Amino acid sequence: MSAARRLSAKPPFLNAVRNALRLRCPNCREGPVLERWPNKILPSCPFCGLSYFREPGYYIGGMIVTYGLTLLVVIPVFLLSLLLPKLQGLPDYVRLGIWILFAVPLALFLMPYSYSLWLSVDFWLEPWEPEKINRRE
Ligand SMILES: [Zn+2]
Repeated sequence: MSAARRLSAKPPFLNAVRNALRLRCPNCREGPVLERWPNKILPSCPFCGLSYFREPGYYIGGMIVTYGLTLLVVIPVFLLSLLLPKLQGLPDYVRLGIWILFAVPLALFLMPYSYSLWLSVDFWLEPWEPEKINRRE
């Protein structure tokens, strides 16, 4: 039995994923990421000042994650639905309509989690410093 030890101070990857699914800042794990459902991301963390936008067009990666996660759910469910006798008798356009009614809300539901995952995994791979918050007190 090998006991491989982590030498870096990096937190475990699963912690980063768990934090992302809570829609929390990848740095302090307290500040919210989402300003408004489904995909309006705050400019930075209200607690620690970490910028949530590393560069212009940053969340194109989040869109790709949304697409991938949606397909991960839609494809197996579609294949399982082929076994349902009630769906087999329906015309193709009706089945297509049912799939759109299923896939669009699913993508909207997965969107904030995908964006948060994109941010957290990027921060886990290559952390960046929070910006200094200027407080007048
Ligand atoms: Zn924070």
